[in-house]
Amino acid sequence: MTQSIASIPETHADWRTLAERLSVEKSLEARAYIDDTFVDAVSGETFTTLNPATGETLAEVASCDAADAEAAVAVARRVFESGEWSRASPGERKAAMLRLADLMELHQHELALLDSLDMGKPVSSAMGDMAGAIGCIRHHAESIDKLYGEIAPTGEDSLGLVLREPLGVVASIVPWNFPLMMTAWKISPALAAGNSVILKPSEKSPLSALRLAQLTREAGLPRGVFQVLPGFGHTVGKALALSMGVDCLAFTGSTGVGKQLMQYAGQSNLKKVFLECGGKSPNVVFADCKDLDQVAEHAAAAIFHNQGEVCIAGSRLLVENSIRERFVDKVLAAAESMQPGDPLDPASFMGAMVDQTQYQRVLDYIRQGVEEGATLRTGGKAMDGEGPNGQGLFIGPTVFDGVTDAMTIGREEIFGPVLAVFGFDTEEEAVRLANDSDYGLAAGLWSQDIDRIMRVTRRLRSGQVFVNNWADMDQTVPFGGVKQSGNGRDKSHHSLEEYSDLKTVWISLMPAP
Ligand code: NAD
Repeated sequence: MTQSIASIPETHADWRTLAERLSVEKSLEARAYIDDTFVDAVSGETFTTLNPATGETLAEVASCDAADAEAAVAVARRVFESGEWSRASPGERKAAMLRLADLMELHQHELALLDSLDMGKPVSSAMGDMAGAIGCIRHHAESIDKLYGEIAPTGEDSLGLVLREPLGVVASIVPWNFPLMMTAWKISPALAAGNSVILKPSEKSPLSALRLAQLTREAGLPRGVFQVLPGFGHTVGKALALSMGVDCLAFTGSTGVGKQLMQYAGQSNLKKVFLECGGKSPNVVFADCKDLDQVAEHAAAAIFHNQGEVCIAGSRLLVENSIRERFVDKVLAAAESMQPGDPLDPASFMGAMVDQTQYQRVLDYIRQGVEEGATLRTGGKAMDGEGPNGQGLFIGPTVFDGVTDAMTIGREEIFGPVLAVFGFDTEEEAVRLANDSDYGLAAGLWSQDIDRIMRVTRRLRSGQVFVNNWADMDQTVPFGGVKQSGNGRDKSHHSLEEYSDLKTVWISLMPAP
């Protein structure tokens, strides 16, 4: 499928037709993109990527390993040293990136369809991701020719210049839950800053990244500036992380793998490691919040959006005990309208779980919740067969009440549609429970009391705090975590700091003769 989708899909039937066309044409690019060519893996190995909503094979994808990583790193280094991109004027980089954004917009339905088919997310949600991804590319393209260096306030006999320079070769390793959007968050500032970028998409969702590679070529990015290596973490991901030729690892994924990457950096060249990891985010509801019905809808959407496969899922709901019973009933009612369905139906709120492993993992956590004594209020079971062919890996919205911080489901990131409800009596207890986590990615706070809002916001150990909303976001605002949720920021101009270094130039000025 090399042309954009001619007519804009709107209905379930439109999306099904497009998906069928894609599978009939069997034209999905599934090879690695190295230099400016699509190639098989050096080993010739492939892996299968499936549609989790139907169990059908989508493509046999090149399974890259260390040999492919070595080839791509050599290209990326050569291109960086050539200066064709790294020393191009910011205006030239901006123009190429804006062309890429325009092409992504032209092909946004196809890109959204690829993400939906590959990882099971509802196509309506995938369309939202496209807007985010395209906006991110445009934001960094537009900002890069508006940033200035600094002149340090030294004395008259010297001039201290502070220059911002690209790092070199950046390897971006991304997860599957928002395949193209996470990719855009990483590659936009990295490319804008002048780096050469090697992208390793998740083995669970490689297709949109490969389609993006085609678009970068069409947009006229110099060859070798952007390359894509599909494959597994323990093979090609590890090889990139250990490579002496990679200057920066920009990672989004689990905390466990993030820790491994830091070790690989230490074992190799001390490359910069920028991590966006997991979360177990508290959503704190005080009795004085406005409109319990609306807050309950937000609380349900905060966990069930994208099947709960969201790093900032509001997975711990902390509710003031005086309203807890009433409020949980409202959350259950909201959850009822968020059942999973065919991801290609724009009306589906939830889609399929990404694969058998994740599906089983979520079911295991649910079993553990019951065994550890939490009260299962709704869901808790597989809803297989929701897919268009009566197959697929689906789990309904699941709510546990009476959860404590000693329970596994109250502490560990489940990454599925499972909500853990805690009760609290005082503000102090709410803050203690909210902060009682290894993670610190996001927190929510619902109250009408401005004094309380400011008191609690300041005490929450979290990269972002959502006050009277959950996950309202904008490209202009940084995104990232503290504690074991990560150590950097995506989005906004702050993300450029992750992909550039400061160079100090000291010039001694001679006095007049
Ligand atoms: P994951 O850590 O299993 O995999 C992420 C990426 O790392 C994949 O591309 C994978 O192939 C690669 N990888 C795995 N092992 C590797 C290794 N040894 N060396 C190099 N690369 C390796 O995570 P996932 O299951 O893809 O994604 C889910 C996780 O991502 C959750 O924990 C979620 O919270 C997190 N996440 C965080 C953010 C954020 O912005 N903080 C956003 C989305 C997802």
